[in-house]
Amino acid sequence: MFTLLFIAFLIVDIVFRFWLDSRQLRHVQAHRNQVPDEFSDRIGLRSHQRAAGYTSAKIQFSIIERIVEAAVLVSLTLLGGLQFIDLQLGVLIDNEMLRQLALIASVLAILGVIGLPFSAWRKFKLEARYGFNRVTPRLFILDACKTLAITLVLGAPLAAGVLWVMANAGANWVWWAWGIWVAFNFLILWLFPTVIAPLFNKFTPLDNPEMADRIHALAQRCGFSLGGLFVMDGSKRSAHGNAYFTGFGKARRIVFFDTLLARLNTDEIEAVLAHELGHFKHRHIIKRMLISFSLALVFFLLLGWLSTQVWFYTDLGVLPQLGRPNDALALILFFLVMPVFTFWATPLASWMSRRDEFQADRYAAEQCSSTSLISALVKLYDDNAATLTPDPVHSAFYDSHPPAVLRIQQLKHG
Ligand SMILES: [Zn+2]
Repeated sequence: MFTLLFIAFLIVDIVFRFWLDSRQLRHVQAHRNQVPDEFSDRIGLRSHQRAAGYTSAKIQFSIIERIVEAAVLVSLTLLGGLQFIDLQLGVLIDNEMLRQLALIASVLAILGVIGLPFSAWRKFKLEARYGFNRVTPRLFILDACKTLAITLVLGAPLAAGVLWVMANAGANWVWWAWGIWVAFNFLILWLFPTVIAPLFNKFTPLDNPEMADRIHALAQRCGFSLGGLFVMDGSKRSAHGNAYFTGFGKARRIVFFDTLLARLNTDEIEAVLAHELGHFKHRHIIKRMLISFSLALVFFLLLGWLSTQVWFYTDLGVLPQLGRPNDALALILFFLVMPVFTFWATPLASWMSRRDEFQADRYAAEQCSSTSLISALVKLYDDNAATLTPDPVHSAFYDSHPPAVLRIQQLKHG
C-alpha cells in the first residue's frame, strides 16, 4: 500500500515540476524580446536576453538532474539497492555501530559520486557559458575533498550519536536525537564563520574607512551590535555577488563578497545591508530557526513511529535484518523518501520567505533610501542574469524572493 503511495507521489511530483518548469520556460521565452517598463532605462535588451538564456539553461539542466535523482531513489529503494548494500555490510562487519555507519556512508558516497558530474557540468559548462564560473578544475577537486573531510569529521559523530540514542535511550530516543540535532545546528552556526568558511575563502577586514563609517552608523541607528566587517574573495569561485551576516553575540560579523563591493557604490551597499538588518530587526532569522527546529521534532516523532513499522521497510524495498538493529536503515529510508511528500510544502515556505523579503525591503527603505536599494537590486538582477519576467505560478511555488518587478513597485510606491 505504501509502495503505491510512494510511487504515486513520486510520479505526481515529477509531472507537476515538469509542468511548472515548462510554464517558466515558455514565459521567459515569450518575454525575451521586451525589457519590462520598470527596467527599460537601466537594463539593455542584450542583458535581458542573456538572463532569459541563463534562466532557461538552468531549468533544462535541473530537469535532467531531477530525472536522474528519481532513478537513483527508485534504484536504492524499490529496486533493492539499499537491501543489497545492507546485506553485504551485514556479512562484512560484525560491530553493529560500524556496520550502520558504513551503511550511511555508502549511501552518501553513492549520492555524492552521482552528484559530482552534475556539479562539474553546472560549473564548467552552464555557469562558464554565461561568464559566471571562476572555479578551476584544481579548485573544484580541492573543494570536493575539503567538503568530504568536513562531512566525515562533523557527520560521523552526529550519525554515531543519533544511532547510539536510537539503540540505548529506549522509547525516549526521539527527544534525545532531537536534542543532538539542535545542538549540532548551534555547533555549525558557531564553527561556520571562524573555522569552516575560512577553509574555502580568505576573509580580510574591510579596508574602506568611509564605507566602514557609514556601515557602523547604520548598525548603530538600527540597534545592531557589530563584531566586524569582512571582505571575502568570492571572485575565486564565481562572479555572482552577495553579502551576509554570520555568527552571534560579539562575534557577529558582516561579510561582503569582493564581487559585490566591485559593483555597488557606498549608498547601494548601505541599502543592501539595511535590508539584511531588516531581517534581523523583524526577527526573521530566529523565527526560521524555531520553525526548523519544531519541524525537526515533528519529523523525529514521525520517524520514531515509522521505524517500528515493518511495512515502512518492506514497502520501500528493504527487509529489516532479524535480531540486528535497523536504525541506520530507518534513518536512510526516511531521509530519502521524505522529500517526495514534503515537496508540497514548498509554496508555503516560499510564500513566508517572500513576505519576509518585502518586510526587509520596507525596513531598508525607512532606514536608508528606497532609490539606493532599487538601483542596487537592478544591478544585482542584471549582473546575476536573474530573469525579470518569471512565470507567476512558477514564482509563487518556488521563489524565496519576490519577482523583481513587484519588489521595485513596492519600493517605489510603498
Ligand atoms: Zn532578504
